[in-house]
This record gives sequence, structure tokens and C-alpha cells, in this order.
Amino acid sequence: MAPIISIKDLTKTYASGTPALDSVNLDIAEGEIIALLGPNGAGKTTLIGAICGMVKITSGTVTVGGFDVERDPRKARAQIGLVPQEIALDIFETVWNSVKMSRGLFGYKPDDAYLEGILRSLSLWDKKDAKNMELSGGMKRRVMIAKALSHEPKVLFLDEPTAGVDVALRRDMWEVVRKLRDAGVTIILTTHYIEEAEEMADRIGVINAGKILLVEDTATLMQSFGLKTLKLSLAEPLANTPASLSDYDLALSDDQMTLTYSYDTRAERTGITRLISDLATAGISVRDLESHQSSLEDVFLTLVEEKA
Ligand code: ADP
Repeated sequence: MAPIISIKDLTKTYASGTPALDSVNLDIAEGEIIALLGPNGAGKTTLIGAICGMVKITSGTVTVGGFDVERDPRKARAQIGLVPQEIALDIFETVWNSVKMSRGLFGYKPDDAYLEGILRSLSLWDKKDAKNMELSGGMKRRVMIAKALSHEPKVLFLDEPTAGVDVALRRDMWEVVRKLRDAGVTIILTTHYIEEAEEMADRIGVINAGKILLVEDTATLMQSFGLKTLKLSLAEPLANTPASLSDYDLALSDDQMTLTYSYDTRAERTGITRLISDLATAGISVRDLESHQSSLEDVFLTLVEEKA
């Protein structure tokens, strides 16, 4: 299937001179959730701006739903719902009118049944007659999403959807986003919360200094870069690691009760079986084992360092 968004050799240089985007290539498939992850200044906002036709492209092409954003800006833009970071709502307006007006602004004919469906899917239907100012922060964010969906876009951009939001609300938002994806909306979100990308996205694109360092299935990314550690709780304190175990990457804790073994999941063998047997030979008995997969945070730091 043709990608819903196709970005080819996209470069954006602001007047200041340094490229905010440098030869970016990215295809986004219909129905996926992709997270764009990167530190401040990486180029995420510029990338979204270029796709939505708000940032003038220096070179390269972007198509959305088959429409070139420069040659067919209105048709391309109509495919997109954009949820900005900041909540911007008319506080005296009702939820229903806010959403209805957004649809009108795109020049779409009224369709109350469609809008009702959106409000229901966002658990806002029973609030449709409430004024925006009467809503909680989480509900206001959902109204922003409802407005962005009012003109039946195929793609929804969520710019830092949970910035400054508490943990419970963040989980709520994740739930909402998953439901939208299940309803067939392609979702692109920017985040600098690694946990958010890991939790929600089918694919993760890592951006740094205007370049896409990598785009990968979330699970594959976690696996292929996954350094694992195995914590071995010892039955008795160990004064120091015996020389016979010097081949292993082992660290002894200060209290001498834990050995931490680091290994690369990309390696053919983990070496765990051999380690356990070598420990037994050295007379060290192990009480408990616990393995730990490195987080996306570790992966991200490794990547940025490797490619810097
Ligand atoms: P992010 O959203 O990942 O934080 P941005 O796309 O906002 O990154 O910024 C990428 C780079 O482009 C940064 O170096 C930033 O200073 C620069 N930049 C962003 N917007 C403008 C602008 N309107 N004019 C000049 N430089 C800009």
C-alpha cells in the first residue's frame, strides 16, 4: 500500500543558516502510530510544520495522501488534523459548538452524526453542552483532539500530547490515542518522553540535529539495541571477583552481595549458562537471578553518541 505520508530528501534551512532538517527521508504507513523522538531543537516541530504546509520547504518533497504539500497545499492539509501542544479553546463556547465550528472552518458540510461519533470515542459526549471553561485539563486536551478530527483527516499529529500532564492523565491520553488508531487514524506524535514512545508507538523515529538517525519497529529497536543485565544475588558476601571469571563483564556491588553481568542481546550467545557453571566451579553460590532489559532511554543515548 502507498504510504499516507512520503517525505523525500527534505531539507529546511532557516534564515539563520544551519539546517533544521537535513535530507530527511521517511514513509509513514496508513494506520500506524509513529513517534518522533528527539531532544529540544532536533527538528521535530519543523518536520511537522513542513508536512502541514506551515514551514516553507528549502528542498525535497512531501506528499500527504498523495497530494504534494507545495503544489496542492489545501488538499494535502485537509488530510491532516493537528493537535498543538498548547490548549487553545474559546472558554465561553460549548464543546459541541467548538467542534462544529472547526469542521466549518475547513469548509466541510455539517455532519452531526460524524461529530457525535468523535465525541463519543473521546468520552466527551456527555459534556457536549458544557462550556470549555468548565472542563478539566484532560478533557480540554480531548476537545483539542476532537476539533482536529472534525474534518475527517486521515492523519493526526499530536505535538507533545502529554507535556506537563500528570501520570494518570498521560495514561488516559495513551488510551484515547490507541482507540483512534483502532478506528483507522494514522497517528504521528512527537515526544521527548521515551516511555511514551515505547508504550504507544508501532514505530519510533529518532531525530537529532535535523537528521533521522533511525526509524524502526519499537519492539525490534528495543531488542536490537538491548543491552541486558543479569543481577545475581549471592548467598554469601564475595570479597572480590575471582580471576577465573575475569572474561566476563561483571561488577560487584559495594555490599559484596550482588554481581551484575552485562551482555549484548545481539551477540550469538549470552554466556549465561557458562557463567553459572563457572560461578559454581569457583564455589560461588547464587541465591537469585534477575534480568533487566535496557530502556529506550539507554538506546537513545547510545544512538546519539554513536552517530554524533
Ligand atoms: P524541536 O521541535 O525538535 O525542538 P525545532 O524544529 O523547533 O525542534 O527546531 C529545529 C532547529 O531549527 C533549532 O535549531 C531551532 O533553533 C531552529 N528553528 C526552529 N524554528 C525556527 C525559526 N522560525 N527561525 C529560525 N530558526 C528556527
